Formats: sequence, structure tokens, C-alpha cells
Amino acid sequence: MFTIKGKTCDWELVIGLETHIEVLSESKLFSGASADYNPTVAPNTQVSMVDVAMPGMLPVLNKYCVDQAIKFGLGINAEISRHSRFARKQYFYPDLPQGYQISQPADEPPVVGRGWVEIMGDDGNPKKIFIERAHLEQDAGKLKHDVHPTKSFADYNRTGVALLEIVTFLDTKNPENNSYISSPDEAERYLREIREIARALGVSRANMEEGSMRADVNVSVRPVGDTKFRTRTETKNMVSFKFIKNAIEYEARRQIEIYENGGTVTQDTMRYNQGEGTTSVMRSKEDALDYRYFPDPDLLPIEITDEQIERIRNTMPELPSATRTRYMHEFGLSEYDAARLTETVDISHWFDTAVNGKKENAKSIANWMISELFAHPENWDAKNEKSGIIDEMRIITPSDLAELVDMIGENTINGKQAKEIFIKMLDGESGTPREIADKFGMKQMTDTGAIQAIIDEVIAANPSQVEQYKSGKVGLLGFFVGNVMKKTGGTANPAVVNEILRKKLS
Ligand code: ADP
Ligand code: MG
Repeated sequence: MFTIKGKTCDWELVIGLETHIEVLSESKLFSGASADYNPTVAPNTQVSMVDVAMPGMLPVLNKYCVDQAIKFGLGINAEISRHSRFARKQYFYPDLPQGYQISQPADEPPVVGRGWVEIMGDDGNPKKIFIERAHLEQDAGKLKHDVHPTKSFADYNRTGVALLEIVTFLDTKNPENNSYISSPDEAERYLREIREIARALGVSRANMEEGSMRADVNVSVRPVGDTKFRTRTETKNMVSFKFIKNAIEYEARRQIEIYENGGTVTQDTMRYNQGEGTTSVMRSKEDALDYRYFPDPDLLPIEITDEQIERIRNTMPELPSATRTRYMHEFGLSEYDAARLTETVDISHWFDTAVNGKKENAKSIANWMISELFAHPENWDAKNEKSGIIDEMRIITPSDLAELVDMIGENTINGKQAKEIFIKMLDGESGTPREIADKFGMKQMTDTGAIQAIIDEVIAANPSQVEQYKSGKVGLLGFFVGNVMKKTGGTANPAVVNEILRKKLS
């Protein structure tokens, strides 16, 4: 079902994503040049003879990149091929000095075979998205058209850096198998899952803003209940979740309109026009045949042993999906809270550090993080796609929050005071929560005798409210609590006040 012009219509979306992530490694896939191509590095300073295909230069496979691919493969529950090959994919473009890209053949199993990830489907239930393959290939260089009015420049620093291309699977033999992405939101959840897995494993920074994660988006539509897939289009090189979702939406509407007007969709390669949020035809689709994949005679096949796979498996950290399950089962967090706290590895690590084994604190720490820390971007910037890392947690540390929650738990301070301390810390007040509480004389009033005395005063001063309460207006309890809290300067424990008041008024 899809909404078009505000009406739901009887079409469904079929989406296939080809996601490229830049593999983290010191050096490039086939040369010793540094793989750090970030924009602060001067152009063409990290280019070896191999990268620009000088005559006689031979590529040598960087085994670490293969290990990274295996690690990612294990992270997406995939089969790892014990044997795979590289091939030359022929095409000409000025950012590709070799005249071909070394990739893995489209019609043979690459390093990483069939796998899956689990996302939340649009119906709120877990949904498996099948992955067809993930293969290693070389990245291209970058062309710069904005340096000179009439000339373009090529920067080959990125040329030959290892990429892992992850392709989702469509079960064309069983088109009713719905383990594929079928809405813009599911596409985003899938990409976030891929990103978190890659980051958790240290396989890639997987950062769309810097281009270390990009996706080609294949979209087709079909009438609900139809048993075969229709022609898709492919929109290339998308680098933001928002654009990807817009492009899918636009493409789906465009195709539905064509069908509803009796036309047919052609298998085109599209470009996304950021300004208008539209897609337009870039070229008609090329086939794998057009690329004439040649075996690369300079490279040996990739051979992977069981021992190698086991060695890598043993170094794998807990993956976000497992962390989520742990938070739900061990700490009793809701699915939503568990998801928020596993958005990045740094967030979940921060949370785990704050909980520090004290299960009884977990829920409270989760609440503080989600409703307070995330609400203060000056302290917490992890939602920012650019950073995604945690030196953003500049002011409040995990042990600060743990101490604050401890103090509430042991009735040293009440929730209101905790909030004040929290704000003071955000404002740069130095010291631990306990030190700040001492400094400002914040202490919860625990002397029940003193609280009782104040309650008696408040009751004596409001005889008509007491009468109304006793004749059934129990909502007035809040009025009394509020007055008592005011008189104690907000230092009484509201729960204790509530209890005593209730007794005295009955
Ligand atoms: P190519 O190699 O030509 O880009 P693939 O067959 O490898 O094409 O498919 C690329 C992506 O497109 C895969 O994720 C695949 O699932 C998806 N795809 C293939 N056919 C369709 C279709 N009819 N509708 C939507 N996506 C599709
Ligand atoms: Mg493609």
C-alpha cells in the first residue's frame, strides 16, 4: 500500500539497495599508499604508481581488507566464500586512471555471500532483509570542477581505496517472499543498521556526509497481490538518508503514474536533483555484459580458510542487535529505549559505562540519557551524522550520571534537585554531583518530624480545602503537596510528603 496525493493506493514498493562502504585500513586495496583520503590531505599526495596504473606496476592484495570484509560478512550472518576472484570492470572515466575498476565478477560468489540483517518493519514487527552479496572493489578518484573556471582537476588520493559493496537480495523465484525493503522508512532503517554494524566492527566509518557510505537505490512498483516484479530504475550515488527517502518516494509516484496512464517504465539509470527533490533520466541502463568483466591476470584468487574465519569471529564485539536484546531482557528497557541507546556504539558504550553492572540503575540512567542528555545537543551530539563519535560527551560523564542516579536512589536528593544539579553541570559547574549538592546545600529533607510539622501548618492554614478534600475532591492532594514542597524549598521527598498527607487527611 502506498500513499499518493494523500490517498492510499493499491501499489506496493520494491526497493533494492547497493550500499558502498569505505573499508577502514591503513593502506589501499592493492597498493601501499595511505587510504586516508580526507579532504585536508593535499591532492595527489597519497597515490602510488599502482594506483595510477603506471606501466609494469603490479597490484598486491591487502589481506587486512579481506579480513575486514570477512568480519562484516559475519556481522550480517553471511556465508563466507572460501574461494573468490577479482575481475576488471571496464569503463572509461577520468577519475579512473587504470581504465578499469578491479572488482569481483557479478556472476560469481564474492567474498561475502548470502546473508541478512533484521530491521523493524513498517508494521512494527522485526523484519529480515536478505542480502545477496558483498564484494570488495576499488574506489575511484575525485574530480574537481570548482577549482578553476574552465578546467577540471583530478585528485587520485581516493583511487584504489577499498570499498565493500553490499547488495540486497530480491527473491525473483519467489516474489511473494517479502524479505526486501518496501518503503522509504525501511530503507532508512536498513541503512542505519548497516552503518551501525560497520561501525561496531570497525570495518568502516560509514559516514554519508563524508562519502564513506553511499547507496544506489533501485525502485520498482507493482500492484498489491501481483506475483512478479516489474522493471526498476536505479538512482546512483545517494549520500543522505533524506535524499534517499525523497528519491524513493518520487520515483515510486512517477512509476505509478506512468502505469496508471497505460505506459511502461523503462530500466533507466536516474540522477537525483537535490534542489527539486526529483529524479531524471541520466542514461539507459547498462548491463553487466557491457562492462566485459575480464579476469585480472595480475591477481591470485582470494583463498579463505576456516581458521582465518574463526580467528576473526573471535575478535568480534557485540553487535547492535544483540545489545538491543540485552537491554530489553536484562534491564527491562522498552524496544524504543533500547533502539535509541544503540544508535551508535559510542552511545551504548556510554550507557554501559554509566550502568556499570548496577542493573537497578539501568532504567533510570536510560531515562536520563534519552530525555535529558539527548535534549541538550551542547552536551550530546551523537545524533549528528558527522561526528557519530563520543568526545561529544564533553561535560557530563557516565560516572556523573551514575552518581546522580545513585543519590536519588539513596534519597540524598530528590528528582527536582537532581535536575538542578544536572543543569548546573551542563552550565559548566565543576565537581561531581555530590560535591555540587554539598556546595549548594542541596539535600533532601529526610527528617519526617520536620516534614510532619510543615504538613500540619499547611493543613491548618487551608481549612476549606481540607473540607472539600474530605468530601471527595481527592484531586486536591496535589494542592497540599505543592504547598508543602514550597515551604520546604523543594527539598522534601515528594513520595514521603504524599504518604503523610494522605494519612493526615483521611
Ligand atoms: P545491477 O548489477 O545491474 O545493478 P542487480 O541485479 O545486481 O543489478 O540488482 C541491483 C539491486 O537492484 C539489487 O539490490 C536488487 O535486489 C535490486 N533489484 C533488482 N530487480 C529489482 C526490481 N524489479 N525492483 C526493485 N529492485 C530490484
Ligand atoms: Mg547496480
